[in-house]
Amino acid sequence: MTLHIPFDNSYARLPARLFTEQAPVPVAAPGWIALNEGLARDLGLDPATLHTDEGLQVFAGNVIPEGSTPIAQLYAGHQFGSWNPQLGDGRQVLLGEVVGPDGIRRDIALKGSGRTPYSRMGDGRAWLGPVIREYIMSEAMHALGVPSTRALAAVSTGEEVIREAALPGAVLTRVAQSHIRVGTFQVLAARGDHEGLRALADHTMARHFPTAGSVPEMLAQMVARQADLIAQWMSLGFIHGVMNTDNCSVAGETIDYGPCAMMDAYHPARVFSSIDVHGRYAYGAQPQVALWNIAQFATALVPLMPDQARAVDDFTAIINRFADLYQSAWLTRFGAKLGLAEPRAEDRGLIEDLLTAMARDDADFTNSFRALADDAPEPAGVDADWIAAWRDRAPDLDLARATNPVVVPRLHLIEAAITAAVAGDLAPFHEMLGVVTRPFHPDPALLGRYVAPPEPHEKVDKTFCGT
Ligand code: AMP
Ligand code: MG
Repeated sequence: MTLHIPFDNSYARLPARLFTEQAPVPVAAPGWIALNEGLARDLGLDPATLHTDEGLQVFAGNVIPEGSTPIAQLYAGHQFGSWNPQLGDGRQVLLGEVVGPDGIRRDIALKGSGRTPYSRMGDGRAWLGPVIREYIMSEAMHALGVPSTRALAAVSTGEEVIREAALPGAVLTRVAQSHIRVGTFQVLAARGDHEGLRALADHTMARHFPTAGSVPEMLAQMVARQADLIAQWMSLGFIHGVMNTDNCSVAGETIDYGPCAMMDAYHPARVFSSIDVHGRYAYGAQPQVALWNIAQFATALVPLMPDQARAVDDFTAIINRFADLYQSAWLTRFGAKLGLAEPRAEDRGLIEDLLTAMARDDADFTNSFRALADDAPEPAGVDADWIAAWRDRAPDLDLARATNPVVVPRLHLIEAAITAAVAGDLAPFHEMLGVVTRPFHPDPALLGRYVAPPEPHEKVDKTFCGT
C-alpha cells in the first residue's frame, strides 16, 4: 500500500451504542469527479498518493484504508419541528479522523456509501446532483470565510440510483471538524442514557470547546458560535433550507447542504426548499430557528447537571444571550459590508433601509452590496438621501470590497453544472468550482455568467432534498 492516512479514531473509542461498525458497500465502477488537493494538504495528506487508482477505490468505498474503523453514527433529531427518535448515518460512514499539521482533528467520511442500520427506507446512496451541489456549496462557503464542512473528493460509482428517474450514482468524501449534531445529544438524552451523554459531552468539550471546562460553558460557547455563524449566512444571502436539529453541527460548522441556495433577488421571506411549505426555514427565519435548535441542545444537556431545576434556569439565561450576540454579529457583518469597521447602533437603521429598498425592488443581494463596495450604488435601489447618509459615515470601501464577494455559487448555475455532469460533461462543474472558490478576486476572463443574476427563463425557484 502506498496510500497512507494516519487515522486516529477517537469517536470509535466512545461507548459502542453511539455508532455501528459499518463498512461502505462497494460500487461497480468508480471514476473520478474531483479531488481537492489543497484540502488534502491541509489534512497532511499527499495529493499524489490520493490521486491514484487506490485513492479512487478508497473514495468509492471499495477499499478500506489501513487504520480506518468505518462507523455509522447514531443520532436523532427534530425534522421540521417534529421529533424523530432515531435517524443516524443512513448513507454515510465515517472512515476515521486525522489530525492535520494545524493540530485540528477532522473527520473523513464517505457520503452515499450504501445502506447502514440507520437507512430506514433509503438506499444509502447519493446521486450525482447533490454530490456536485454539496461540493460546490461547501467549498464556496469555506472560501467566503464561513465555517463549513468541506469536500475532499467526489467519485462516480458506475451504478444507477433510482429517484424520480434512474440517475448516476456518486460518493462525496466529506471533511468536518466532527459530525456531532444537536441530534447526537438528543438521542442519548431521550433514551435516558446519562453515561453515554456524559461520554459524548466530554468528547465534544475536549474536541471543540477545549477552554470550556464545564457543560454550561460549552453551551455558552456553542450559542456564541451559532450567533456568529447565522450572522455570516445572513450577510451572504445564504439559505440553508433544512435546519433540522440533526443538521446542526455542535462545533459550529455549516453542515448538510441539501436544498440550500444563495439568494439572487433579496427578500426576507425567500424559501427554496420544495418541502418547506410553511417557510419554517426561510431566509429571515434562520436566526429564530437557530435559537430553537440551541434550546433543544440545552434541553439534552440538562440531565448532565446535578441540580436539574437550577440547570434549567441557568441554561435559559445562557440561551437568552443569543439575541444580543446575534444582533451584534449581524451589525458587525452588515456594517462591514457597508464599509463601516465600527458600526454604531444608529447604523442599524441605515442597513435596514437598504434591505427594505432591495426587497421592494427585487434587487440582487450579492450584486447590490458589491455595487456599493465598487462605489456604484445605483443598482441597490436606494435613493439619493440614503446614499448621502451612507457617504456621511465615510465608508471604507476596501473593507466593503473585502467583505462583499464578487461571485457566489448561484443556484441556476449549479443546476446547469449538474445537468451537464449528468450528460457526461464535468467541465461546467470544474469551471464553476474554480470561480466560486475565489469569490473576492475571481478570474475576470471567466466572470460574465457568474456575476449576472439569472434571466427569467434561467431562474430556479425550488430545490429538492435530493436524497
Ligand atoms: P438529510 O435530509 O440528508 O439531512 O437526511 C436525514 C436522514 O435521512 C439522515 O438520517 C440520513 O442519513 C437519511 N437519509 C437521507 N437520504 C438517505 C438515503 N438515500 N438512504 C438512506 N438514508 C438516507
Ligand atoms: Mg442530515
